[in-house]
Amino acid sequence: PSAPRPVPGACFSRVRPAPLRQPRVVALSEPALALLGLGAPPADAAAREAREAEAALFFSGNALLPGAEPAAHCYCGHQFGQFAGQLGDGAAMYLGEVCTAAGERWELQLKGAGPTPFSRQADGRKVLRSSIREFLCSEAMFHLGIPTTRAGACVTSQSTVERDVFYDGNPRPEQCAVVLRVAPTFLRFGSFEIFKSSDEHTGRAGPSVGRNDIRVQMLDYVISTFYPEIQATHASDSVQRHAAFFREVTRRTAQLVAEWQCVGFCHGVLNTDNMSIVGLTIDYGPFGFLDRYDPDHVCNASDTAGRYSYSRQPEVCKWNLQKLAEALDPALPLELAEAILAEEFDAEFHRHYLQKMRWKLGLVRAEREEDSALVARLLETMHLTGADFTNSFYLLSSFPAGPESPDLDEFLAALTAQCASLEELRLAFRPQMDPRQLSMMLMLAQSNPQLLALIGTRASLARELERVERQSRLEQLSPAELHSKNRSHWAEWLLEYRARLEKDQEAAGDTAAWQAERVRVMHANNPKYVLRNYIAQGAIQAAESGDFSEVRRVLKLLETPYRGEGEAAEACEAAEPEEASGEAGG
Ligand code: AMP
Ligand code: MG
Ligand code: MG
Repeated sequence: PSAPRPVPGACFSRVRPAPLRQPRVVALSEPALALLGLGAPPADAAAREAREAEAALFFSGNALLPGAEPAAHCYCGHQFGQFAGQLGDGAAMYLGEVCTAAGERWELQLKGAGPTPFSRQADGRKVLRSSIREFLCSEAMFHLGIPTTRAGACVTSQSTVERDVFYDGNPRPEQCAVVLRVAPTFLRFGSFEIFKSSDEHTGRAGPSVGRNDIRVQMLDYVISTFYPEIQATHASDSVQRHAAFFREVTRRTAQLVAEWQCVGFCHGVLNTDNMSIVGLTIDYGPFGFLDRYDPDHVCNASDTAGRYSYSRQPEVCKWNLQKLAEALDPALPLELAEAILAEEFDAEFHRHYLQKMRWKLGLVRAEREEDSALVARLLETMHLTGADFTNSFYLLSSFPAGPESPDLDEFLAALTAQCASLEELRLAFRPQMDPRQLSMMLMLAQSNPQLLALIGTRASLARELERVERQSRLEQLSPAELHSKNRSHWAEWLLEYRARLEKDQEAAGDTAAWQAERVRVMHANNPKYVLRNYIAQGAIQAAESGDFSEVRRVLKLLETPYRGEGEAAEACEAAEPEEASGEAGG
């Protein structure tokens, strides 16, 4: 029951998946497949095996689902702040859409099924490690409650490509894999940027698709299909309709990035071609979840300037919306779009972020003026003590509050136990350069604009100075001194937190009901399990040698991130210092 996508014109090219040798299912996500109306796996082992063999055939692209009409989408994008011209689906193919008995429609994509007209110099393949990462994280994000594209299957094969070399310089062949992706739509901001003429973007090769009529057709398609309420409300006024659409995309994007910040998710490649037009997390490449809390964490090894660092994600998403606004002009006049962006983005981000953080802290009564500062000081405390982001929040869920609240000693011990060791902190804060040399250069740069321009922005200068100071302070500490320093940082914040909770308790009246609600809300908002890099890496290494059980175990665990007590506690432990880095993105 699938149909080709009803977008006429020139934004899609027909393609064919290129077969893979001996495809085999690494894992299936049953909840994602259920969206498509595929029933649960049979209990009988032989029937199960037959089902997996069929899944391998169809979800590798070796066989086409009945009615499928594969196509690759042509889009543009700004990559790392620069207009990059035409990009398009170089490694992904649409199969069509599944319309379910329940009246839902889902688009299917195969990622890694071979070259398309938009593959440029590359081969349209994906290797097992990046496919497992996308597969696991798509599903992890969904179960965390964060809008995302889904993944129904990960299939590997005996076909290989070379992406890397071994240390001795010899080529390292890797298995080609395919991920079955599922989403309402994979259209992105870049899908609209294709309609800008090349002369509006100086210096780069221009897009091949023109112009306003197709832009309006795609807008109409997107709004009537994915924003039917907006279509209904503004059926007769196209500017109002486009304005309402842009407002809603702005709000959804602001909410999405607020959700990312609250679980410590770093996307890694927030180019405009990786921004969903319906507010989903899309394109899992070198992403990473924060372990030790570091606002400047950069998960993409090729992002040397830190454009897509954790703390910059909100401003980058806003910048991307500005590019979308420019791409919608004149269907939506630019001044109008810019006014909407200014009106909505920051306000919606802060509102959503603060509400989520208040839940994470169990603040279930009325918001108070000091709440923002309490959150900011918590993050500062985590930063100062090298605390693990996920584990700190998870531990706070069992903070002893209320009338019989005992002293904080035991709790403090647990909190400080998951802070980074002195060795880890020293490593983390070791600047690229010798600290004395760097501080000398930074001092000179303060009064020398040319030198400053060489080093970077004033903000990065301030950060570097902070790192240097931090490191020299650390150099003088012993492990015992560090421990007691961490303890006093945490004790200070916990007293503030306890005082804040007491205000909620007073406002509550019924203390027992308040306690129960507080604990329930915290458990529902502070995950125990996120997809840490080293966990993904363990699953990948096993899978590369043919053992898929760890991928399946981790998938299962990530399906209940808020419960799943005790099943595999190691997933919750702080990351090992030597971490697997993701694929380079860009
Ligand atoms: P990304 O950084 O993953 O968003 O990819 C940027 C661009 O490169 C997109 O147009 C992708 O379709 C394309 N691309 C990524 N990987 C491949 C590949 N293995 N083969 C062909 N094109 C690719
Ligand atoms: Mg992409
Ligand atoms: Mg990618």
